[in-house]
Amino acid sequence: MSLKCAICRHGETVPGFVTVTLERAGTVVVVREAPAEVCGQCGEYFLDEKTTARVLGLASEAVERRAEVEIVRYAA
Ligand SMILES: [Zn+2]
Repeated sequence: MSLKCAICRHGETVPGFVTVTLERAGTVVVVREAPAEVCGQCGEYFLDEKTTARVLGLASEAVERRAEVEIVRYAA
């Protein structure tokens, strides 16, 4: 699947893996090796619905554990 990048509008995306960092309720969650479409031009990445749901789920689990910073592997 190749998409036109919605950010720079020039690049095309290729499948790859990215590190997603997000912060919720004072917890910083770093999700490594999440599958994404990555722009070859600007490096912006796009997660599909299923991946987004899993990333948010992993973030919620970290918040429940009251971790300040948590680094998890997407496919753990
Ligand atoms: Zn781009």
